[in-house]
Amino acid sequence: MLCQMCRSEDTKVIDSRAAEGGLAIRRRRQCLTCGHRFTTFERAAYQPMVRKRDGRLEPFSADKVRHGIEQALADRPVSAGTIEALVTQTEALFGPDTPIVGAGEIGDTVLAGLRAVDEVGYLRFASVYKEFTGAGDFEREMAALEDRP
Ligand SMILES: [Zn+2]
Repeated sequence: MLCQMCRSEDTKVIDSRAAEGGLAIRRRRQCLTCGHRFTTFERAAYQPMVRKRDGRLEPFSADKVRHGIEQALADRPVSAGTIEALVTQTEALFGPDTPIVGAGEIGDTVLAGLRAVDEVGYLRFASVYKEFTGAGDFEREMAALEDRP
């Protein structure tokens, strides 16, 4: 880590102790070039996780969500800003109290968002996400679309 005063790379840790009840490490460092002392904190990075259907956890990836939505909306008249808003809705499922969210909840959130934006995109996403087995499933979804107010 560079010295804040002189930008020297030559700094050393002169004290290291647990902080924030053990959730962080506080380090006092001293620059070997100019003598400036400063403090750094080391904390685990907040990592939202997705619980998959088989129970395994994997890191949440907004890129993966965006890719799925973009595929469903290929050639559809939907702006990049609207797609980004749909991605943001899935990111908003996570928070300090909910670092783990089920894949199903993320999928349902995308479906609800797509349904409001573009019915073709909604059906495409649903056909992949719900693993449709036949035409009957599509007919049921089409009927559900027509039923809405
Ligand atoms: Zn320095």
